[in-house]
Amino acid sequence: MGVIIVTGIPGVGKTTVMKKAAEGMDIQFVTFGTVMVDIAMDLGFVKDRDDMRKLSPEQQKELQIKSAEKVASMGDVILDTHCTVKTPKGYMPGLPEWVIKKINPTAIVLVEADAEEIFNRRAGDTTRNRDQDTKEEINEHQMMNRAAAMAYASLTGATVKIVFNHDNAIEEAVKQAAPVLKRE
Ligand code: ATP
Ligand code: AMP
Ligand code: MG
Repeated sequence: MGVIIVTGIPGVGKTTVMKKAAEGMDIQFVTFGTVMVDIAMDLGFVKDRDDMRKLSPEQQKELQIKSAEKVASMGDVILDTHCTVKTPKGYMPGLPEWVIKKINPTAIVLVEADAEEIFNRRAGDTTRNRDQDTKEEINEHQMMNRAAAMAYASLTGATVKIVFNHDNAIEEAVKQAAPVLKRE
């Protein structure tokens, strides 16, 4: 099966959908942001995972490389991460060439939803401190993620599957992701 990357913009529901899709499967589920924030806290860079995208690009890159090295040593995993990270200086690639080649995924699952659904999920999830983007900004970010996902695919030969996670339709999203998780 190889490494499967699951991605999508903040609040779209990638952790919720893929954790459910991976239930009962004999594969480790790894959240890249958790690996990163553990390293960031050790280095004294941040106290909260939602503060990392506001660090300087150099600091984010350092964390990204260290995290990629750790993940690359884990073998086959489902990796929950971001195609692009929205920083004050612009979109940063979540998986630049030196990261995507280390991880070498066989498939990329891109979770999407309507801008309004994402807007409301961000507002309703008080466990996180997500950006308060407008619906236009949410759409722009989803468009950038599609472009980034295909760029990563062309560096690795990975397939890209778009999975829609509409409100109260997690089961349908899991069903759409199922062929990617099937062992051949
Ligand atoms: P991040 O990149 O910030 O970690 P995420 O993409 O992993 O975000 P989740 O944490 O999985 O997003 O979901 C964000 C919120 O949306 C949560 O409160 C979750 O319960 C809710 N949610 C996810 N999917 C759906 C759905 N299909 N219908 C309704 N609510 C949903
Ligand atoms: P998450 O819980 O998935 O939102 O991850 C927490 C944070 O980790 C994100 O908001 C980003 O700041 C950071 N992060 C996750 N994946 C990447 C990545 N591939 N490159 C850079 N930063 C990332
Ligand atoms: Mg998540």
